[in-house]
Amino acid sequence: MAPDAQPPQQRGQAGGPAQQHQDEPWSPSSWRSKPIRQAPQYPDADKLSRAAGELARMPPLVHPNEILTLKAQLRDVAHGKAFLLQGGDCAELFDYCEQGAIESKIKLLLQMSVVLIWGTNKRVVRIGRMAGQYAKPRSSPTEVVQGNEIPSFRGDILNGYRVDERDIDPSRLLKAYHHSAATLNYIRAAIASGIADLHRPLDWGLGHVKDPVLKQKYSAIANSIQQTLRFLQVINARPGELDTVDLFTSHEGLLLEYEQPLTRLLEQPPPPGGFGFGGGSGGSNSSSTMSSPAQLPLHHDGGRPEAGKSEYYDTSAHFVWIGDRTRQLDHAHVEFFRGIANPIGIKVGPTTPTADLLALLRTLNPSREPGKITLITRYGAGRVAELLPQHIRAVEDSEYARCVVWQCDPMHGNTLSTPAGIKTRRFNDIYRELQESLRIHKEQGSYLGGVHLELTGDAVTECLGGSEGLAEDDLSTNYTSFCDPRLNEKQALELAFLIADHYSQ
Ligand code: PEP
Ligand code: MN
Repeated sequence: MAPDAQPPQQRGQAGGPAQQHQDEPWSPSSWRSKPIRQAPQYPDADKLSRAAGELARMPPLVHPNEILTLKAQLRDVAHGKAFLLQGGDCAELFDYCEQGAIESKIKLLLQMSVVLIWGTNKRVVRIGRMAGQYAKPRSSPTEVVQGNEIPSFRGDILNGYRVDERDIDPSRLLKAYHHSAATLNYIRAAIASGIADLHRPLDWGLGHVKDPVLKQKYSAIANSIQQTLRFLQVINARPGELDTVDLFTSHEGLLLEYEQPLTRLLEQPPPPGGFGFGGGSGGSNSSSTMSSPAQLPLHHDGGRPEAGKSEYYDTSAHFVWIGDRTRQLDHAHVEFFRGIANPIGIKVGPTTPTADLLALLRTLNPSREPGKITLITRYGAGRVAELLPQHIRAVEDSEYARCVVWQCDPMHGNTLSTPAGIKTRRFNDIYRELQESLRIHKEQGSYLGGVHLELTGDAVTECLGGSEGLAEDDLSTNYTSFCDPRLNEKQALELAFLIADHYSQ
């Protein structure tokens, strides 16, 4: 691989910072000449460069074909033809790399997506915050634990949560790769073996819903879904979507020392099956990414580069995003992200100036590929009505109209601490931000195409409220997050019911 062989990017708008970026050559390491936020200080440069060297030799974790399939599916989301469900842990731990935790997350994402398909009448694109969500930005580099100031936990890819493991260890970069690979391997195996086969009865577990009106509403949706599935089974209809599903992976692309060696200049291979264009069901509706590459869809309308064209792919995941703390235009993360062919996300919040939004789009997507960028908005329930409309207008009144995926992250603007100092979120705030976002997009004539959630398939007690009515005193029952509080399976499913209900009105 020739790391500096990138052809100049296509030009965007004249003038401004975006234009400056496009005139500069890019390479997987060009971010190193820029200022950077949230960068770790590695104690041992030799150990770091050995780890990076080893990563550079490892095979890609995901294939360009899969990345391009996701990009084509996100183009459908940008055009209002599909809905995006993205979810998983705030901080994935190496310990979560085990069968039960992986299966319960796959099952939850699948079950939520069935509800969303029912409600939105659209295909659902699923992305897990899984198989690589190991690096966390922190508001402070240190914290006080039992009276001692120690380095903050920055995710398993850098240091450990245990107080005696807080020193940064470069060998964790390789551990992150291997845990991602094992997680991804099991996701692929479980899906190929039918974990997602919807012909099996689903457990809706609505016993906890105390409000009779809600219970009646959710039961009606669940019954309707179950009836449809039974009907399809009786008439022996087996649409691909029922046998298997796509599940793509994603994480915050925070640690560029990890992302760089996994970024490869790869030739777009000829479509699987040689020149038999249209293998599988064709178009972006085909649904087989993780299980049967022979059926990968092909796109003749700009979604897929010509076979033989080389591009840089960040092969650590299908989708990576830039966090709220690292999206400065002239800084390292934006520099790195502007050169990769993956679909990417940008977190957008109360501190995002409207003018930066367009400059970011022009820098990161100068050729205006629809679905290339997902704007992940996270303002907080109290501020969304004030801030979202101006961000929508800036984008939709520009040359990027109908080009981005608008996704609501109702988690990160709604974090609070209880008087006892426990980090939590109220289910009602989460739902209110989502509901407001749906209303505002409708009012503005744009399409809210997805949700981005922190969730787990386990029965944790980390967010307040929901139909179980979790109270502050209940939080300690099963609070296991090492970072932000996640929705448990009941709360997450309930959110899917609420979205479905909104869209089906
Ligand atoms: C996150 O998604 O876990 C996160 C840190 O979000 P944000 O960058 O939006 O604060
Ligand atoms: Mn988080």
